Amino acid sequence: MPTATRVCGFHGWLRLGRYVRKGEHGLKILTPVAMRRSEGEDAEDEAQTVTRFRVVTVFDISQTEGAPLPEHPCQALTTASERGAWLCGRLLEVACTEGVQVREGMTGLGRAHGAFIPGANTIGLAPGLSTDQAAKTLCHELAHALLHGHGDRPREEQEAEAEGVAFVVAAWAGLDTSVYSFAYVADWAGRKDGAALIRRVGSTIQRTAASIIGRLAPEETSQSA
Ligand SMILES: [Zn+2]
Repeated sequence: MPTATRVCGFHGWLRLGRYVRKGEHGLKILTPVAMRRSEGEDAEDEAQTVTRFRVVTVFDISQTEGAPLPEHPCQALTTASERGAWLCGRLLEVACTEGVQVREGMTGLGRAHGAFIPGANTIGLAPGLSTDQAAKTLCHELAHALLHGHGDRPREEQEAEAEGVAFVVAAWAGLDTSVYSFAYVADWAGRKDGAALIRRVGSTIQRTAASIIGRLAPEETSQSA
């Protein structure tokens, strides 16, 4: 179906208040699954994960009916502040230290501003981002890289964590990303018992943000730690 624009699993559409029309044929796609390498090899290999693919069935939005999808509520940051430029530069250094490659101007990300590709240990940033948006997105994807290499937790938790970290780190650097971050977290958390989810991810956000801030300004956090 080359005309497909937004696809989702059968139950995913139900959660969005839409249902798949009777008689529609599902679309088969390959989805990556991170799996632990089988045991029996030496201890070093045990911790490694490999990416396998399995076939899942999805449906395009044109095959569904029901509630209209909410408009993307996040407002992209359009400013280019000095703080944003500083944060962007420092985060690039942290990514480099972590062995994570950052590719700016990456195409093919759809509506996303960025992505972390675990298999390649690479962060992609979409072309045309403002400086402040690039700083925020880089921090979000760096949090994914630090926390979610295995990709084995629910997506809404991963997204809430990554954006929470980006918000805290950006705020520390003097960049207010609330117009974007609050809507983003609310959107993901709201899909599944949001209040419990926020309570679950809070300490991870705090710990990870503190760790990144510590690397951005080692002299400040060594006093407060
Ligand atoms: Zn994300």
